[in-house]
Amino acid sequence: MFLTISTTGTEQTPATDLGFLLHKHPDKRHTRSVSHGTAHVLFPEATVERCSAALLLEVDPVALVRRGKGKGRGGAPDAALGQYVNDRPYAASSLLAVALSAVFSSAMRGVCAARPERVAQPLPLRVEVPALPARGGAELVRALFAPLGWAVTVTPVPLDVRFPEWGDSRYVGLVLEAADGTLTLGEALRHLYVLLPVLDDAKHYWVSPDEVDKLLRAGEGWLAGHPERDVITDRYLARRWSLTRDAKERLELVRLADADDSDVDDIDNAVDEGTDTEEQPVPLAVRRREAILAELADAGAGRVLDLGCGQGQLVQALLKDVRFSEIVGVDVSVRALTVASRRLKLDRLGERQAGRVQLMQGSLAYTDKRLKGYDAAVLSEVIEHLDEARLPALEYAVFGSARPRTVLVTTPNVEYNVRWESLPAGHVRHGDHRFEWTREEFAGWAHRVAERHGYDVRFVPVGDDDPEVGPPTQMAVFSQAAKVADAAEKDQVA
Ligand code: SAH
Repeated sequence: MFLTISTTGTEQTPATDLGFLLHKHPDKRHTRSVSHGTAHVLFPEATVERCSAALLLEVDPVALVRRGKGKGRGGAPDAALGQYVNDRPYAASSLLAVALSAVFSSAMRGVCAARPERVAQPLPLRVEVPALPARGGAELVRALFAPLGWAVTVTPVPLDVRFPEWGDSRYVGLVLEAADGTLTLGEALRHLYVLLPVLDDAKHYWVSPDEVDKLLRAGEGWLAGHPERDVITDRYLARRWSLTRDAKERLELVRLADADDSDVDDIDNAVDEGTDTEEQPVPLAVRRREAILAELADAGAGRVLDLGCGQGQLVQALLKDVRFSEIVGVDVSVRALTVASRRLKLDRLGERQAGRVQLMQGSLAYTDKRLKGYDAAVLSEVIEHLDEARLPALEYAVFGSARPRTVLVTTPNVEYNVRWESLPAGHVRHGDHRFEWTREEFAGWAHRVAERHGYDVRFVPVGDDDPEVGPPTQMAVFSQAAKVADAAEKDQVA
């Protein structure tokens, strides 16, 4: 079974960067054993103009049966034979998806040390899967991929070319194309990782509870709002009700969180509104913005960075307040920035307003000269979206390199999660949260950061401060120790 991923390029953005993005040198053949066989990655074509990577999985059908993982295919009446003689070695399936995630794990997560700037850039992409088992037929294939920005070409594969009257098999040839500017490589891989097994509709490995987390992680940014979300969830989780129910609830929270132009901006609100019915509660995201605006005003900040600005709600609020003379929103997600730009109606702002605001694509895991010299930076609900191992990089980029006078960091207080009725125990609030901290963990981190980089830090609760578990959101206010000294000096002079 195999698939190919291709891209095109120019001298400035060579197609061979695909090799960097996939962490595979185009001149070499890469072989690695995966759970059900051997995966090979090779590049049939690698030029500046065009580059193709092929993933080839050799499945060992006998080993598959021996390990008891061959269930679910073959079926009656001759299930025993079906276990040995089946389509596994040839047709793209859940096994190929597992191999994909093993071989391209960094690319799937959107990590690339060699070409960090390319990771977030949507590329012209073409994916070919010559033999794809498609239960649900061409129609479902289109319904799954088209809403994600793919142009879909499905070619039915006849049962037997010599006997056209037998009709089509349940296999199709699939070509997916994404025009430049539509999808990143990471997004494309995450689509395939989820949707290949969905079309195959027969999972060949044990579906464990952490499949829900895997699905939500791979589905980040596209699954919650997908019109076929329920079909995808049911099939991906092999229709295990306890898992699908959990996944659907969490996806619904994410969808609410993403719902553009609604006041429900994030998960906390969705849950907040569900639990507190007495009087119209102020959504937590609104209280967070108010707390941030108050701290920025207190600090006398005029030029402000919103790091990980997402869809631009805070930028919009800052723009309404004339005290903020220059506002820069930064995010790694091009899609979020597109939504932000639409929300701010950047193309229709008057010259004066437009001059105050700027959106930039960039990753906080890398130092960035453009971020130096600002009065304040806000990291609102951002740190928990980074792997903990990447936090030191963000810490250095913000506190070591950009060094604004004031830094505000907000993050969920995990202790408060027991107060969200609809949040199952032990779950984080959002599918993409890599961690959620207790007050003590957050304070520990913040003090270490402050110490290392010469800041003072204090903590402000956001939302109702529960006597037992604390507030739903915790905020750290860092101010440069030098500023404290400055102020003291001025006081003396005065
Ligand atoms: N600040 C907004 C959005 C929070 S969601 C709010 O408070 O509502 C987290 C945001 O961080 C997402 O938009 C995500 O794209 C962004 N993000 C995650 N990792 C990032 C990184 N390494 N660099 C820049 N932005 C990042």
